[in-house]
Amino acid sequence: AKRDPSGSVVVFNPVMLSVRQMHSALAAELRQAIERNQLLLHHQPIVELATGALIGVEALVRWQHPLRGLLMPDEFIELAEEIGAMTDLTAWVLRTALAQVHQWRETLELDPRFTMRVNISATQLQRPELLDDVRHILATEDISASALVLELTESALVAGNEWDAYSFTGLRQLGVGLAVDDFGTGYSSISYLRTLPVDAVKLDRSLIGSPGDSAAQRPFIAAILQLVSACKLTATFEGVETREQAALLTDLGCESAQGYYFSRPVPAEQINADLLAQLGG
Ligand code: C2E
Ligand code: CA
Ligand code: CA
Ligand code: CA
Repeated sequence: AKRDPSGSVVVFNPVMLSVRQMHSALAAELRQAIERNQLLLHHQPIVELATGALIGVEALVRWQHPLRGLLMPDEFIELAEEIGAMTDLTAWVLRTALAQVHQWRETLELDPRFTMRVNISATQLQRPELLDDVRHILATEDISASALVLELTESALVAGNEWDAYSFTGLRQLGVGLAVDDFGTGYSSISYLRTLPVDAVKLDRSLIGSPGDSAAQRPFIAAILQLVSACKLTATFEGVETREQAALLTDLGCESAQGYYFSRPVPAEQINADLLAQLGG
């Protein structure tokens, strides 16, 4: 044990120290992950329920770590925020995702309504430069703004109330789609669904209930979908894992859905003609 400046005894704690060391080692590696080509995107299909057509994918970032294997966003997004790497990460995701759309357009018969959905965190949404970044990347990758949808987490939207300070207006004028993500989790506020300048809402998988009690969930989900449509927003349900859930949502008129029932998030090469046929047929 040794003394800190206040005079109290600091007990050496090897566990805490190693956690902190691990944290800073990971932070240092994360700073270099982009230039070392260690980030990659998986894409999860978004399906039009009435037809089964693939009308979009959500880009989900992963980190292929040389020693720790494939890391999921839960394991490094917070760290990226802490070390100020989110701006670079977000730009990388946007560029890579839109370049991918460009490539799919050349090799696949994509639905004309196909959109690429990219997650934008609270801190990124509040950066005034986001608008210029998005405009620049769309131009470079030669993708029209309407083919991009930005998914904005509900907490980010509720936390700040001054929409004007965000890039909202500019992004809308550009023609980029805006969606509220994770609706139905912690921060739910029904009134702002009406007032926010967004086009679409992603309904969190917690709203769908556990597989197997779809029947009991029916009136609840019907009410939520009515609310969304009263606000003139398009609904995408996430976390659809069973045929029963998909059937229920189709029956209730939900436009689109995403979940393991249709497909897990997959590497880009698995978004192919076989998958299109399998979903649409
Ligand atoms: P999210 O935006 O809510 O993304 C959906 C998450 O649910 C994904 O987890 C996806 O793999 C998972 N999921 C999809 N279908 C099902 C299902 O049927 N059942 C279950 N149980 N889970 C399902 P993932 O890929 O681990 O991503 C976690 C979160 O990380 C995302 O949640 C998103 O908030 C964040 N994230 C991912 N990529 C990015 C990114 O590029 N930028 C930012 N800012 N955040 C990202
Ligand atoms: Ca999302
Ligand atoms: Ca979500
Ligand atoms: Ca979610």
